[in-house]
Amino acid sequence: MNAQVETFEFQAEVRQLLQLVIHSIYSNKDAFLRELVSNSSDALDKLRLAAFQDKDLTADTEDLHIAVDVDAEARALTVRDNGIGMSRDEVVQLIGTIAKSGTAEFLKQLKEAKDAAGAQELIGQFGVGFYASFMVADRVTLVTRRAGEDTGTRWESGGEGTYTIEPVADAPQGTSVTLHLKPADAEEQTADYTSPWKIREIVKRYSDFITWPIRMAKPDSEETETVNSMKALWARPKEETTEAELTEFYKHVAHDWAEPLETIRLRAEGTFEYQALLFIPSHAPLDLFMRDGKRGIQLYVKRVFIMDDCESLIPEYLRFVKGVVDAQDLSLNVSRETLQQDRQIQLIRKRLVKKILATVKDLQAGDSEKYAKFWGEFGKAVKEGLVADPDNREAVLEICSFESTADAEKQTTLREYVERMKDGQQDIYYMTGDSRTVIENSPHLEAFQAKGFEVLVLTDPIDEMWVDAVTEFDGRQLKSIAKGEVDLDAGADSETDREERAKDFAGLLGWMTEKLGESVKEVRLSTRLTTSPACVVGDTNDLAPNLEKMYRAMGHEVPKVKRILELNPGHPLVAGLRKAHEERPEETGLAETAELLLGMAVLAEGGDLADPTKFIRVLADRLERTL
Ligand code: ADP
Ligand code: MG
Repeated sequence: MNAQVETFEFQAEVRQLLQLVIHSIYSNKDAFLRELVSNSSDALDKLRLAAFQDKDLTADTEDLHIAVDVDAEARALTVRDNGIGMSRDEVVQLIGTIAKSGTAEFLKQLKEAKDAAGAQELIGQFGVGFYASFMVADRVTLVTRRAGEDTGTRWESGGEGTYTIEPVADAPQGTSVTLHLKPADAEEQTADYTSPWKIREIVKRYSDFITWPIRMAKPDSEETETVNSMKALWARPKEETTEAELTEFYKHVAHDWAEPLETIRLRAEGTFEYQALLFIPSHAPLDLFMRDGKRGIQLYVKRVFIMDDCESLIPEYLRFVKGVVDAQDLSLNVSRETLQQDRQIQLIRKRLVKKILATVKDLQAGDSEKYAKFWGEFGKAVKEGLVADPDNREAVLEICSFESTADAEKQTTLREYVERMKDGQQDIYYMTGDSRTVIENSPHLEAFQAKGFEVLVLTDPIDEMWVDAVTEFDGRQLKSIAKGEVDLDAGADSETDREERAKDFAGLLGWMTEKLGESVKEVRLSTRLTTSPACVVGDTNDLAPNLEKMYRAMGHEVPKVKRILELNPGHPLVAGLRKAHEERPEETGLAETAELLLGMAVLAEGGDLADPTKFIRVLADRLERTL
């Protein structure tokens, strides 16, 4: 054996993944070819760009193309390109490990998937790229030389745990991947990948739009011919593209194996010309909420690939949108930094955002099932836009859906909410909290329920953030039912009754405010309670308790926010306390009851007691005395 051959172990994640791929739980095995061609196409894009940006690069860019060779006798299939290639270290890095964020999560889910169908669906969502080769091959040889370097590298593996690497002196620039196909009878349903006809058909079907020539030998002839039409899909008029072509193009740009949920086209003519072909995926990527989560738009200038995940073209809250923007009038020399300042890019971005939001709005109106799917996958990310994108706030609000007390099964848009509003209801009400149960059982809800007023149930952490920024929708105020004074008289009594009651309770309220002054800002009478004795509420501009907790968890210094204790004057406990306080103001037990009332109110909204041990001691004492 060659002394220069080194054997490496695959990274543990790759090993696991390869096991799955080899034992082929993915039914559409043809996908392997699309992945190889897609990688070659990317490699050619990268070479063209590198040669343009680095005039000293000694690379051959004369006849950039992809070649597919079938050797039926040897049962071998080769996909070759003369693109950027890989250095030895890159081969180890890129082919021996998975760089995709969210891989660990994916493998965990895969382990938990109970059946083959579940596992297959997960693979379809993840996409296994280069490793898909092992669905059809029992040995794969990759020979590559990076443009500008002298020595090439041969990589080879049977997919079972290890691979070998050795230097190759005379490797051509670019990469060739040779699949040694599994024996024909190994799998019953496997297509015959040694048939040139079959391979041609697969290339046409999956990779026709690739903008580089894909060459194959003419059947029964020495000559080669280009088998793909090479027309950039985004540049073609809508009528000239089929649904199937768009789907395959999406899989190529998004590195996804599932179909897109929606396709979006944009085109500007005239002095500043550009085309965009964007897709909303049908599932959220695993890294949607990870720090290094990429944005999905590729930038082309006059058909030349410039960069992946172009953050200047799409705001972060729409990072899940995939696709291509091709601008005619930009310089090929643009960099990420200059793009940020570029006025044309800013204009494109503005239009993309508007168009995406409008597309989702159309889904909402025209295809509620698709819209529900969209919202389930991406809603949490979209809601970030309520804070991050004030210019489009109205439009973002329009496409949001929320849980509400109207229907536990179905989310509602704000527009639908407004249409259901009761006579006499002015505002849109919401409550934030940790869970639906906590909110449903919270005392704050009582009067709203008694009146039949619907309340939005907001339980995502991001909800706490945007409710502070968004104060109205369609001319109506958005109001937290746990903040400020609400103008609902649950008892629906008259003005004079209220004044009378205020007088009656003034003594108790003053005394309690003083007694509980360490913990609360004020004690006052409530109009939002029907059955509970008390609840705590925030002042209109106070930080919500969850947000306060969140900021603390993030390490911010936040001053303790004191809340307001509201009492239900109609509740026997409160009425009794008032009477006792009037008759025997000095009695020590009264202060304890006041503390217990506050503790109960905090617990009722799912909050944490400041001193649970003390609460229990006082409660136990009081109970004991009733025996
Ligand atoms: P993805 O294409 O989603 O990144 P793949 O598994 O298909 O994942 O490929 C992994 C990486 O290997 C690619 O990102 C690329 O850097 C490298 N690679 C694969 N094929 C080629 C090729 N033909 N030429 C150059 N680099 C390649
Ligand atoms: Mg790939």
